Amino acid sequence: MKKNTHILLLGLGYVSVWAYKNLVSTLGPQIKSGEVQITVVSTSDYHAFHGFTGEFLAGMLPVGLRRTPQAKLLTKANFVHGKALSIRQEEQAVLVQNFHSGKTERIEFDHLVVGIGSVDNDAGIPGFREYGLGVKKENGIAECRKRILAAVEAASKSLDPKQIDAALSFAVVGGGFAGIEVCGNLCEYLRELSTVYSILRKHAPKVYWVHPGEEALPQLAEGGFSSLLRYCKRQLEKEGVITLSQARLKEIKASAFELDNGMCIPSRTVICCIGQKIVPLASPTPFMTDLKGRMETSPQLQAVGYCNIWAGGDAARVMHISGKKECRADALWAIKQGRRIGRNIARSIKGKKPLRFSFPGMGQTASLGMNKAILELYGICLTGRLAWWIRLGFFLYYMPHRSQVGKAIRAFLQPRRLWELDGGSFEFQVSGSEHIPETRNPKPETRNPKPETRNPKPETSKPKRSYPILSNPV
Ligand SMILES: Cc1cc2nc3c(=O)[nH]c(=O)nc-3n(C[C@H](O)[C@H](O)[C@H](O)COP(=O)(O)OP(=O)(O)OC[C@H]3O[C@@H](n4cnc5c(N)ncnc54)[C@H](O)[C@@H]3O)c2cc1C
Repeated sequence: MKKNTHILLLGLGYVSVWAYKNLVSTLGPQIKSGEVQITVVSTSDYHAFHGFTGEFLAGMLPVGLRRTPQAKLLTKANFVHGKALSIRQEEQAVLVQNFHSGKTERIEFDHLVVGIGSVDNDAGIPGFREYGLGVKKENGIAECRKRILAAVEAASKSLDPKQIDAALSFAVVGGGFAGIEVCGNLCEYLRELSTVYSILRKHAPKVYWVHPGEEALPQLAEGGFSSLLRYCKRQLEKEGVITLSQARLKEIKASAFELDNGMCIPSRTVICCIGQKIVPLASPTPFMTDLKGRMETSPQLQAVGYCNIWAGGDAARVMHISGKKECRADALWAIKQGRRIGRNIARSIKGKKPLRFSFPGMGQTASLGMNKAILELYGICLTGRLAWWIRLGFFLYYMPHRSQVGKAIRAFLQPRRLWELDGGSFEFQVSGSEHIPETRNPKPETRNPKPETRNPKPETSKPKRSYPILSNPV
């Protein structure tokens, strides 16, 4: 073995964390003796867990649990808080902007893992940055929760029905898994808030779900899992969600959003789940990329044409073992790719041939609120409580650190503490003179939420504990 092999991991997402875990378990003695050194460079100094997005939004879990600090995870690696700027493959080095020193450093590598993931896609929508909300960005979920609370607070202080209507109109944009999860759990959150804020009992909030297709979640229909799709529709109908299909978000304004079909709906809270985009490293890049900017990879997860540069997750295009389709860009695939990359680097260091990435896939899942979920596992479809509990067990298993699992279980067992979880002040104000546009092309009456379905009994003053005891999660 070559002395002092240096493995450089870019990013602290799923790919890097699981590659690191695998390297530590397969090359433990070499890492201990210093023959193998690992360095992680990341713009975030924590790992962000996206698995419980809905639960974080609804307040079932404290948002702080989304983050696992690097110091907890990377006990056997060096960490550089900074941004990889470019890869100099001819020098076997990466240029890194170090956030602490402010300087640009050159870090050499023997093996490089590119796991720089993706960021919220604003799709160039005017007003997205100023008024829209994203769920992946730093503090995205916490911001969403704060804005929802602020809107409810503002509505409760206002006497103007137009202002109240705009404050209590919420939009979720995006017809994928993240969109439906956010939509279902937003309803859950509003229901919980209504036990505290009487305005939500007097004035039923409106939740709009906007997506461009005729049907949402096209992957379910394509895979023949229409029972899951029907369940989602039923659940959202029960919640009174107003579905606006075949519509694209055109613009977000301070107190309204516009769709490409001409509709303009007063609302102050527009949560965008319209997918992710890649932020490639500085160009010209020496690597083959697809139109989305993802690195093309070999079946062994090496960047095409290189034997010591590896890539996976959202930033890479990886073909499925069947050779007929691409692997999905989600956390499970990123975890499995990270693991394979770790194992393949260890094999290369030991002089063995790297192996193909052969994970065939497992399924898909989304939650729509407490005890409500859809799950497809190896072609078997489950819905409701059982699906929710299996999903819970699965996500707990894939949380990056055992201490986070313990905290998550404890949080699930506690009654919901809406206020303690967030803290912070509400900056959202309603000004009496603010212009609220009229609704253009309002939806037919039949689609409007039925107030009685959302209104809990006014005499309830405390949030109801609705958590079953975690006795047999999987
Ligand atoms: C709201 C939401 C909910 C989701 N829910 C699920 C779910 O329930 N199940 C599921 O399977 N998937 C889910 N996903 C998808 C999943 O989160 C992604 O597919 C996964 O995060 C991809 O992992 P990754 O390692 O490629 O990148 P990421 O997890 O995005 O990590 C990228 C890392 O690279 C760092 N970085 C970026 N650029 C640089 C740079 N230039 N230099 C250094 N570091 C850099 C970032 O700071 C970050 O640490 C969800 C995604 C979102 C947005």
